[in-house]
Amino acid sequence: MSNSPSNGILEDFISLFYPRYCRGCLNSLAKGEELICTQCLLEMPKSYYHLQQDNPFFQKFRGRLPVKHVMALFKFVKESRVQQVLHALKYKQQPELGQMLGRVYGKDLFEAAYSDSFDLIVPVPLHSSRRRIRGYNQSEEFGKGLSNILDVPCDDTYMKRAARTETQTHKSKLSRWENVNRIFQVVDQSLIAERRILLVDDVVTTGATLEACGQALLNAGCRELSIACIAATQ
Ligand SMILES: [Zn+2]
Repeated sequence: MSNSPSNGILEDFISLFYPRYCRGCLNSLAKGEELICTQCLLEMPKSYYHLQQDNPFFQKFRGRLPVKHVMALFKFVKESRVQQVLHALKYKQQPELGQMLGRVYGKDLFEAAYSDSFDLIVPVPLHSSRRRIRGYNQSEEFGKGLSNILDVPCDDTYMKRAARTETQTHKSKLSRWENVNRIFQVVDQSLIAERRILLVDDVVTTGATLEACGQALLNAGCRELSIACIAATQ
């Protein structure tokens, strides 16, 4: 069985009759397994970027944004279990999946002595109308899982997204960047100033969204900016 998001209908069918299925491979979960089976957790490609500061994801921001740590739980591969899991998190009403992945990465970061590296976890905000429709912000759910293990507060209300971005894909790269760059606003600068912030997102491709969001945090006086996401393209 392939595991692309085009399996959406199949997944809907499976979830109807077998609620205890793996969100990565769609096979049934064994006793004690939650949301993602042990085999998927072992085989999905971890990036280990938190163990290598000058990693390919970090290099993506070189000359664009001054960042301290840039990390991802997984390497993003199309048509893979990672994509299947991210699709479920975003489109299948499964916020608990984001929290679980946050705890998984939180444990990796904890073991690598990151527990005292951040003062605040800030998720990339969704536009309020999209959040209302989806019912949750998938990046915030990932942040909550990290928060749970690292004991660093995670708050979704420090930033807001000012405009919708649906038309972005139809625009040129430059105007897209400009578009994104106006979108993110820090609500109260005093809550961001002098803080070491871990900005979190779900999946990262160009980094344009994180660049705009991170720039808004730096403009608000954040002392040190780091980034963590669930998966990053190479
Ligand atoms: Zn699985």
